[in-house]
Amino acid sequence: MRTTTVVIGAGQAGLAMSCWLAWRGIDHVVLERGDIAHSWKTQRWDSLTLLTPNWQSRLPGWHYEGGDPNGFRTMPQTIAFIEQYAQIISAPVRARTTVSSVRKRGEEYEVVTEQDTWKCDTVVLATGACNVPVLPAVAAAVPSSIKTLTPLQYRNPHQLEQGGVLVVGASASGVQIADEIQRSGRPVTLAVGEHVRVPRVYRGKDIKWWMDASGVLDQRYDEVDDIVRARNVPSLQLAGFPDRRTLDLNSLTGIGVKLVGRLAGINDGKAQFSGSLRNVCALADLKMNRLLDTIDAWASEQGRDLQIEAPQRFDPTIVEEAPPLLLDLTRGHINTIVWATGFRPDYSWLHMPVLDHKGYIRHDGGIVESPGLYLMGMPFLRRRKSSLIDGVGDDARDLSAHLASYLRSSMKNATNAAA
Ligand SMILES: Cc1cc2nc3c(=O)[nH]c(=O)nc-3n(C[C@H](O)[C@H](O)[C@H](O)COP(=O)(O)OP(=O)(O)OC[C@H]3O[C@@H](n4cnc5c(N)ncnc54)[C@H](O)[C@@H]3O)c2cc1C
Repeated sequence: MRTTTVVIGAGQAGLAMSCWLAWRGIDHVVLERGDIAHSWKTQRWDSLTLLTPNWQSRLPGWHYEGGDPNGFRTMPQTIAFIEQYAQIISAPVRARTTVSSVRKRGEEYEVVTEQDTWKCDTVVLATGACNVPVLPAVAAAVPSSIKTLTPLQYRNPHQLEQGGVLVVGASASGVQIADEIQRSGRPVTLAVGEHVRVPRVYRGKDIKWWMDASGVLDQRYDEVDDIVRARNVPSLQLAGFPDRRTLDLNSLTGIGVKLVGRLAGINDGKAQFSGSLRNVCALADLKMNRLLDTIDAWASEQGRDLQIEAPQRFDPTIVEEAPPLLLDLTRGHINTIVWATGFRPDYSWLHMPVLDHKGYIRHDGGIVESPGLYLMGMPFLRRRKSSLIDGVGDDARDLSAHLASYLRSSMKNATNAAA
């Protein structure tokens, strides 16, 4: 089988790229191991709603036109939205086609699936940033009496035994899961490391509106001082609840969640927590206020101060004087641990020397060092918004332009060589 470009993955990133390739007249297929929107269908918990508002899901050639632009999609709505997009752009998706190997063979790429082998000039890797959960090394020391699961396995609280739950990690997934489990009557202890605190609504407008309008989300990868750090910043502590309430550590302690520091070790069945909880929370408060200062400065510059609510600041995170540093996991207070400690991509099928020592692809804004190989959908790939639904369109435009010029120049070289 031969085509010009093979796109791997039919989530929003692969589909946005497919749209741009079609607009540029580039012959391609999209290979998908499951069905369209497979990650949204199989790897999300039941109650999850997007934390980006409906208006903030602009894809190439498509945007939200419904009556609730500030609402938050449920998972069935998100899946329907992505499936509809694939249909509208007539994406050439081959579903249930798992790619088991990608290699360079001379000037071409060879993409092997269970059904066929494809030869092509260019490959776009759009296989997702969240394929496998990242677990800390201490996970190996959890007593066998305790059930453990990750956000990719978690569906709802009824899956868990009654009794206490330790949620490790306080970014978007951790705080949302902690909130839901605590409300189900299972007492939650939340281990809190570095996190990014933001209010859902600021001066009467959604935080995502501010970040979009002020250009924060459009910030480019080659404009920030430390891109490695920027690519590893935890996800915002945020949820898309219908009542637009803010989900932060204060709201969690308000419903009875107990906060402890970062999980530092487990010895003889005893969990040890870092003593840095107060500092970590103070830093998150400080950084939130810095973001709000930036927003206020932008609003003033734009002359918007009189049209919107006055600036406000939020209560600092409340942390008890001496949070516990030890928790005996063998005494029956904790029956389940949820590892909300992040995700990483899986490239076990990519047989090319393009990975760094941590197993991540080396790239310059999505342009991989092997000519003709491109990456989509990673955190801060080209812009701060790159891993969001709303971010893949601009990246697909830029990278498809690079891909098209690569094809033109390799065609010219081939013609010159033949002459
Ligand atoms: C819990 C959670 C909540 C999120 N909430 C939001 C939100 O509110 N708003 C927002 O904008 N973003 C959100 N995101 C971030 C992001 O939008 C999603 O992770 C989204 O799924 C990424 O899209 P993608 O196309 O890059 O990757 P994916 O959706 O993961 O798509 C990759 C596709 O590649 C396929 N694939 C992988 N390997 C192979 C292979 N070897 N062969 C063939 N196919 C393969 C997969 O099956 C999958 O369908 C969230 C992420 C998570 C984890």
